[in-house]
Amino acid sequence: MSTTLSAPPLGLLLGDIVRRHRPQKKEGTVPGNIPFLATVPFDRFGIAVATTSGEVFSSGDANVPFSIQSISKVFTLAMALQGSRSARLWSRVLREPSGTAFNSLVQLEAEHGIPRNPFINAGALVVTDHLMEETPDAATQLLQFLTKQAGAEEGTASHGPSIDEAAAAGELAGSSRNLALAHFLKDFGNLTQPAESVVENYVRQCSIMMSCVQLAKAGLFLANDGQGTSGRVLSPSEAKRIGSIMLTCGMYDAAGEFAYRVGLPGKSGVGGGILVIVPGQCAICVWSPRLDAKGNSLAGTAALADLSDRTGWSVF
Ligand code: GLN
Repeated sequence: MSTTLSAPPLGLLLGDIVRRHRPQKKEGTVPGNIPFLATVPFDRFGIAVATTSGEVFSSGDANVPFSIQSISKVFTLAMALQGSRSARLWSRVLREPSGTAFNSLVQLEAEHGIPRNPFINAGALVVTDHLMEETPDAATQLLQFLTKQAGAEEGTASHGPSIDEAAAAGELAGSSRNLALAHFLKDFGNLTQPAESVVENYVRQCSIMMSCVQLAKAGLFLANDGQGTSGRVLSPSEAKRIGSIMLTCGMYDAAGEFAYRVGLPGKSGVGGGILVIVPGQCAICVWSPRLDAKGNSLAGTAALADLSDRTGWSVF
């Protein structure tokens, strides 16, 4: 893949992306079931690029922590694939795009409790259950993984990733749908832990606060053949496979549209973040809180489409 990084250089280009795409008015929505997300100013916008050569470029609110929400699903999958039990995981969750909303119940019932992929809520609940079989507090395990990969400052923990427990409690109070998914999974024999514990742990994973810079650094191993900022995370084959699932399933029922507009594997969260990888080159994280009808960042998607067009970064 060639990079057509003609002028301006990346730092200036990111500044221009922020100027063009930072929302001027309150378009789009925020999810109704997560009270914390309604408190975030609509005009927050940040972008960061972590390169495989070890550089980090950023602009806008790139150091402001935000709620990673479903971006957590990429990292819990990576953690699950690190273990020796991954074959068992793949008997419990498929790798096909769902074509349905991330929290849909219908498909799960029709398909007998086997979620289409690990990036919809049902699939992520299965991944969490899988992790909890060995480590009951999978959310804290995830936090430690992310802190290490983000290269967060040792000894200055307050600046590293953290779980917003109040936001998690607020989301848990509105988690009827995720509880319904978990109970469906349980009923079909595809959950080993209690449904309530799995949902609680999952919601705490989603409530991890990180900045664009930290997420880009934490996701770098996916663009770098499994090699993270502090050692190997996955084999090159496993890293490639996660990238493939991001491309086909990372944006839920907007995966096709995102592939068309951006042409890169990505994973979004309803906190407004999107993590994207350019294999062999860099990981990119963009954040803007207001969402489109499919739950993906409106301005974030537009910014990535623009960045891809202007740099030539694409897997196609
Ligand atoms: N915590 C959110 C939920 O379960 C995550 C969804 C998302 O980011 N798409 O509804």
